[in-house]
Order: sequence, then C-alpha cells, then structure tokens
Amino acid sequence: MVVSKRIVLHFPKRMGDRPIIYRLIKDYDLEFNILKALITPEDEGLMVLALSGEQENYDKGIKYLTKNGVRIQSLSQDVIRNEERCTHCGACVTICPTDAFELDPLTRHINFYGEKCVACGVCIKACPPRAMEVHF
Ligand code: SF4
Ligand code: SF4
Repeated sequence: MVVSKRIVLHFPKRMGDRPIIYRLIKDYDLEFNILKALITPEDEGLMVLALSGEQENYDKGIKYLTKNGVRIQSLSQDVIRNEERCTHCGACVTICPTDAFELDPLTRHINFYGEKCVACGVCIKACPPRAMEVHF
C-alpha cells in the first residue's frame, strides 16, 4: 500500500549539512517534495515535506530519521490564534515558514491565515503573549 503524508522535520543543530534526505530517498525508495526548508548550520533546522512510498518503506524511513535525531511532527495538529491574547506585535511574521501571518498596512494588525499553517509549532514558542495554541 502506498502512503503519502505531509510532515515537518525538526533537525538538531549542526545537522543540516548531513545528507539525511538523500539517504532517505536512496535507501528507502521514497518520493518527496520539499514544501519549505529553513536550515542553517548553527540553528535547529526545519523542513516541511510531502513524503510518499510503500508503507513498509515509509515506516523504515521514519525510523531512520528518528534514530538520527530528527524530530518528526505530523500535520494532523491544528494551530489556532487566541484573538483575545494577540497584541499584533508582529514577532510571528518573519519566522513562519509558510507565510501564514501578514501585516495589514492599513490597520497595522497582523492577519493570520490558518489555511496556510502547516502546524510546525515555531510561532507557539515565539509569540510573547502565548496567543498561538496547538490543538490535537
Ligand atoms: S507573535 Fe503572537 S501576539 Fe505577536 S502578532 Fe503574532 S500571534 Fe499576535
Ligand atoms: S505553526 Fe505557526 S509558524 Fe508554523 S506554519 Fe503555523 S502559523 Fe506558521
């Protein structure tokens, strides 16, 4: 059975230069589409992937990633904004890998487009008043 899933990979520091994705494709015969990647050598990296292949290979590939210290997050989580808490400070705008936040030039408010969100969780830690919440 072929499976296809969207997942977020969180790479530990100093791992972005290792050929993890190359090995994943070569050794486990998986197909992938990188939807977004934010990787720098000094920081934790983040990659949003659409990954597909035979279920058995997929499971082995995921095991390979986790054994190598990659934290995997499925996109079945839902991230919402608590509108009462948001102060429109703008801290989330540049860090969101999918540009789900946008400054409204007229009102100076930060709009949140939930349909763009891939539930990577980055804004949850970065939001000063903790307005971004993850729901399972
Ligand atoms: S970081 Fe939090 S408070 Fe600031 S604009 Fe984004 S959601 Fe609102
Ligand atoms: S969880 Fe936050 S940072 Fe991640 S995609 Fe959704 S809105 Fe953007």
